[in-house]
Amino acid sequence: MTTYIAPVEDMMFLYENLRNNNDYNEIEKYKEITPDLVKNILEEAAKINQNLILPLAKTGDENPTVLENGVVITPPGYKEAYKKFIEDGWTSLSCDPKYGGQGMPKTVSAFFDEMLSSASLSFKLYSELSIGAYNCINHHATEDIKKKFLPKMVEGKWSGTMCLTEPVCGTDLGLLKTKALEQSDGTFKISGQKIFITSGDHDLTENIVHLVIARASDSSAGTKGISLFLVPKFIVNDDGSIGSRNGISTGSIESKMGIKGSATCVLNFEDSIGYMIGPKNKGLNSMFTMMNLERIVVGIQGLGLSEIAYQNSLNYAKERKQGKSNNKNSKSAADFIIEHADIRRTLLNMKSIIEGERALCFWLSQQTEVSLNHKDEKIRQKASDFVSLITPVVKSLFTDMGMEITSDAMQIFGGYGYTKDQGIEQIYRDNRITPIYEGTNSVQAIDLVFRKMVNNNGDIIDEYLNMIKKEIEINDEKIKPFVQKLEKNINIMSNFTDWIKDKIKNSKDDAGAACNDYLKVLGLIAIAHSWIKVLEVSFKKYDNNKEFYDEKIQTANFFFNRVLPRIESYYLTASTGSKYIMDFKFK
Ligand SMILES: Cc1cc2nc3c(=O)[nH]c(=O)nc-3n(C[C@H](O)[C@H](O)[C@H](O)COP(=O)(O)OP(=O)(O)OC[C@H]3O[C@@H](n4cnc5c(N)ncnc54)[C@H](O)[C@@H]3O)c2cc1C
Repeated sequence: MTTYIAPVEDMMFLYENLRNNNDYNEIEKYKEITPDLVKNILEEAAKINQNLILPLAKTGDENPTVLENGVVITPPGYKEAYKKFIEDGWTSLSCDPKYGGQGMPKTVSAFFDEMLSSASLSFKLYSELSIGAYNCINHHATEDIKKKFLPKMVEGKWSGTMCLTEPVCGTDLGLLKTKALEQSDGTFKISGQKIFITSGDHDLTENIVHLVIARASDSSAGTKGISLFLVPKFIVNDDGSIGSRNGISTGSIESKMGIKGSATCVLNFEDSIGYMIGPKNKGLNSMFTMMNLERIVVGIQGLGLSEIAYQNSLNYAKERKQGKSNNKNSKSAADFIIEHADIRRTLLNMKSIIEGERALCFWLSQQTEVSLNHKDEKIRQKASDFVSLITPVVKSLFTDMGMEITSDAMQIFGGYGYTKDQGIEQIYRDNRITPIYEGTNSVQAIDLVFRKMVNNNGDIIDEYLNMIKKEIEINDEKIKPFVQKLEKNINIMSNFTDWIKDKIKNSKDDAGAACNDYLKVLGLIAIAHSWIKVLEVSFKKYDNNKEFYDEKIQTANFFFNRVLPRIESYYLTASTGSKYIMDFKFK
């Protein structure tokens, strides 16, 4: 079985030192959230994830969810663990105190999301979509609906889902067929089939609140005719008690490569009673509140799985002896594999990406909070544009890197990694969904290039790169070599940006064939920017904790010398265009 120690020290390093963001610090309601309070929360979070949730990963993999007589049964131990999980208040961490939440900022809840993803992604998914649905309802529903549904969802007694996908529509939601027929009392009857619905049914909560996109009978075809509906598994009475069963049944559950403890359901809606959320025909806009936040959380899933894969392969590399190292003092017949340069390179590759991603995620969480809560509208808007720009990057890069890291981790285990005993192959399998769901990574890259770089508010990518350039004007000889490397790569990215802006106008296929590379380039720049912030603190505070800061500086050294230069090859290959791709005749 895998082991896991939550990286509380690294998280607290970020929380204590990278909070020097003026806009974030001006948010009144977070002023009293002290590092001591956050440390307490993270230490408690570490305990529940290490002790209670981690063992569920293997249990869920070996005993997948089953559908018996129309009822979905979760793996052994899930029910008991979920009861404790909600009793301890983990579903309410980032929710509004008005509905019983603890009101923690995303800078804290993102750390919890990472830990839970490391411990068991399958178990996490039962509460993850509930938080997403909570956010969507909180932003777009009427006060009556909020009062009726949110307290129980925050408490974790009811859970939520996101019902978009249908047999004919995955990426292209405009094709959806599910219908909504308005009733004389203002409710709707929803009919249609949704597939691949995470936590679509299960035995952990008393009720399930489905957020369903459907087309009203008088709405037009395509995405402009889509509305959003809240459709509960059980109707909720006016006094808040649970009433009769709604017309929703589980057709089947998917048998999958990974996250086998998570119920991925086919749901049939037959004249189910639904309540419209937000304006008619603007359903996708409302749903995007949920999807955008979810995309960041899926990126964090990739980070969490990368962390546990790294920890286990590091431990293994310290225990496994094979081959002689180049250390002339070694007297044994074989040395620990961690002595070999290639194994060390692989481990440092993982570590430098993971710690950089965590720092970037912390920055993104701050920006998200500023975009939601700052009192100045202009500052809110600017933060919101940066969040929109970096969200597809975090979703895609973290999950793609998750594939690289979990695969490398398996490689360090050699043949034992491929067999089931060590649990490392499960981490690889569990991560494989993350580049697919919540909008595939290719679609994220298209979204970045065609919609997020430049929007109605201006040239966001230029503003973002200018912000980085300004922030790395640091007068410190020790940081200079790192800054120079970043500046060189920002220049490459600027050329790539000019090239791709031209192609968006003049040759869309060239841009389409380059957007995955472009996303990776932006992601590596964003991570390098975060590393510079980490280095600034590390050099300044070096004498306070030499061992910790030395490790940071050496890890950054690897990132700037071995990972960041990938940018050059992404640009070189992408800028060869698409003619030879589009002209090719597949037989
Ligand atoms: C385990 C699991 C859980 C899921 N959970 C949920 C859930 O809770 N709720 C929900 O609604 N859905 C859920 N999904 C569905 C998931 O979000 C979709 O599978 C995903 O969005 C892709 O849709 P698709 O499978 O129909 O692929 P398609 O849309 O058919 O795409 C196939 C391929 O074509 C590419 N492609 C599509 N359009 C374009 C384009 N314009 N340009 C370039 N390439 C393109 C895609 O990147 C992909 O590689 C889940 C899926 C799984 C497997």
